[in-house]
Amino acid sequence: MIEKYIAGSDVGGTWIRVALSPLTLEKDSIQIKQVKTKKENKYSISSQICQILSELIDESNIKRHQLLGFGLASAGPLDLKKGTSFNSPNLGFKEVPLKEPIEKEFPDIPFYLINDCNAAVLGIHYFEATEEEKDNLVYITMSTGIGGGVICNGYLVLGKDGNAAEIGHSKVAPKSNYKCGCGAYGCWESISSGTAVRKRTLDALKNSESNAEILLELINNDKSKIGAKEVFEAARKGDILSREIIDECVFYNKVGVGLINDHFDCKAIYFGGAMMNDQDLLFVPLQKQFQTESIEFTINKPPELKITQYRSEIGIMGALALVKYKVENNSVVSTYNF
Ligand SMILES: [Zn+2]
Repeated sequence: MIEKYIAGSDVGGTWIRVALSPLTLEKDSIQIKQVKTKKENKYSISSQICQILSELIDESNIKRHQLLGFGLASAGPLDLKKGTSFNSPNLGFKEVPLKEPIEKEFPDIPFYLINDCNAAVLGIHYFEATEEEKDNLVYITMSTGIGGGVICNGYLVLGKDGNAAEIGHSKVAPKSNYKCGCGAYGCWESISSGTAVRKRTLDALKNSESNAEILLELINNDKSKIGAKEVFEAARKGDILSREIIDECVFYNKVGVGLINDHFDCKAIYFGGAMMNDQDLLFVPLQKQFQTESIEFTINKPPELKITQYRSEIGIMGALALVKYKVENNSVVSTYNF
């Protein structure tokens, strides 16, 4: 019998990953290639994806007709009907066509576009979640931005355009002075994301009494070196300003998680994204809050909080899971009709 394959890709502002796997989706049989995202023109991303996918197919000695589908996870927002990413500051262009150029190159292979966090929650669903967690599951990425994917009552939540759940833009402090990249004030992402930690620290340093000696020493007084990582490191060493910035970040993470649990009554929330490298300061206090005094932030029973073991690869794993579930008509993706 001829073996059936599936393929997937995860497109971000920095990296493009492409994967090829037998339909069985055993961890050891998944091949992944990763390259830096090119932003020369709006077709650079799709042509990179096509090139790597062709390479993977050739190297595996399989024929294109063995491929049952291709899933593409991309930073949003997305127009799933048109097959484009639009208004994404990270991909470099106002609109990036994805579906049309890839279908042109691989005309007979079903193509599925999905928001990267929605893909990630499918990846958790397939590869990591326990049986009890699967039907009410949330994924949250904390990185340059904050995003989420939700499975509720056993179905992937997509919304009218496929752009649910933009949890990073939940207005957790609408009267605050923190402006979000989206233009609004007080979005969760404008306070707690990696970008926000950096920006808020730089703003606070304009105040001469900022109590940031340890941080300034750490970066040799070169403020251009400040990123979230440096702020976390300084906080660990006892820097007062860094500690305040991180405390506020953690507080609003509790608010965000509480809102999600109030809305979706979830069994588990898995976290991913680069900020989880500083889980001692970011994740541990959050977990403790929901294990001990959850009522301060949510009326529902608290969810289990976990960190994905797939880290930066959970998006690509989810793109593959989407295709497998579509091919096998799994009900969790019966909401995906774009
Ligand atoms: Zn926003």
